[in-house]
Amino acid sequence: MSAAGRGFVPYISSWSSEGVLASELGVLPGGRLAYRDETPCDRDSDGILWRRVSSRPGQGTPELGRVHSGRQRRAMLRLLCQVCGGPADRSGDGVLWLLKDDRDDWPGWPEGMAATHPPVCMPCAHVSARMCPHLRGGHIAVRVRDARRCGVYGSLYLPGRPAQEVITTPDDPRARWLVAAQMVRVLHGCSAVDLAPLRSPRSA
Ligand SMILES: [Zn+2]
Repeated sequence: MSAAGRGFVPYISSWSSEGVLASELGVLPGGRLAYRDETPCDRDSDGILWRRVSSRPGQGTPELGRVHSGRQRRAMLRLLCQVCGGPADRSGDGVLWLLKDDRDDWPGWPEGMAATHPPVCMPCAHVSARMCPHLRGGHIAVRVRDARRCGVYGSLYLPGRPAQEVITTPDDPRARWLVAAQMVRVLHGCSAVDLAPLRSPRSA
């Protein structure tokens, strides 16, 4: 179904029919979280354990603020548009990202930023800039030449400590105690760009 037919529902958003699947966690000898009934699909190529979620896009009501782990991971892995799930826009200057304007965070922002939001295609960048609540305070379009995978965002269950949400790299010793929920890429080679006017026969 098209995004237009359902209103504005990004590809990576969860629907009310989707949730975390009940799974029992245990600890392997030597200290490492694992599912009791784990299969090879539960870990990525870095050996990171991933959250199990159901997938029923389009069923129920959209929950725009809740990211779907499976679709976020797929979009980040393949550099798909976070809004429509098609290929993200790419030019000689890199892949297009639309970011909340946090340029006061550090000099040279967003260079080195750890991104959990996947990139976008050009038509969806225009729609998002107008309609995304978290971009209303200001946004910036950026071409990114080097957006390498750097780790995951997820829930850390260190023994004897309260669970907390963190970003870790695969070589972080804490990664053994993590259940990942989102893939993270770090943005390098960033250049701010103006969103190109859309060429649409309907608006000509
Ligand atoms: Zn798109």
